[in-house]
Amino acid sequence: MLTRPRYDETLYSAFARASMYLGAPPRSRLHDALFGIDISVFDDLPVGIRRVVSSGAFGPADVDGVVHEWTLFPYYAHFAPIERAREAVRRMEGEGQWPHEPLGCGTAAPARLRFCRSCRTDMLEQQADAWWRRTHQLPSSVVCPDHGDTLMESMVTRDRRRSGYVAATEDECPADASAVAVFDGGVAIGDLLTLARAGDALLDERCDVHPDDRRETYLRRLAGLDLLNRVGQAKLPAIATLMEARWGSVLELWPGLARDGRCVQGWLGTLLMGGHGSPPLHHLLLEGVLASAEGRRGRRT
Ligand SMILES: [Zn+2]
Repeated sequence: MLTRPRYDETLYSAFARASMYLGAPPRSRLHDALFGIDISVFDDLPVGIRRVVSSGAFGPADVDGVVHEWTLFPYYAHFAPIERAREAVRRMEGEGQWPHEPLGCGTAAPARLRFCRSCRTDMLEQQADAWWRRTHQLPSSVVCPDHGDTLMESMVTRDRRRSGYVAATEDECPADASAVAVFDGGVAIGDLLTLARAGDALLDERCDVHPDDRRETYLRRLAGLDLLNRVGQAKLPAIATLMEARWGSVLELWPGLARDGRCVQGWLGTLLMGGHGSPPLHHLLLEGVLASAEGRRGRRT
């Protein structure tokens, strides 16, 4: 039996540690030995879960537990329609199809695997080797939700992690690694921590709210804040102004959210009136605006 995934560790990372101790065989040989077949490697939404479970390679497990506890599925599926989330799980159980496609998160993953220096120190105090944490790989996170440290870029690019398993060694997480984002004093670290913790919480949640119902809830809350017009549509310019006031330069850290210090209204329109394609980050930002506006209103009344 291989080492079970540790605290917040991805299944990919557990494979990578096992592979390292087995002398880093080519991934096809490792898969062949474990499953009798080679399968594609995805670090965030892995496939072949049925084979992982039935092989017992990581100890007793079931598909539901593996998908929810050892992968980034709960984060990417949280705001997706339930039928799309089910289709993603079906693909993760199998080994042929790409699970990202039904969730619309094909290009969302950060270019490199990320790590937190303080987490690495903690890990190496407890264990002989470090691991990749799920929460550090969330595209909406720039800092570690536990330490508030800026996340660092490892040497593991998308191509490298698709072609095989790479463990979180010192060579891959060097002391002179670059930060995932460079920001000045205008960005409030507390806001980044709020976002990182909100994203992290999604990893431990199960959600069966239909996106249409969620949008209805958003509109009801906006109505309570006088942010709907007479025909019941969101007042995007006013919401954009609140977005700038709540998040400020944080919006500049992701492409397409703001331009010249002003919140771009297009993604807000998609989130509040469009299809189901908005990423978790957009929902988390809106939630922050609604919560702070409701808090202010509550204090006034
Ligand atoms: Zn940390």
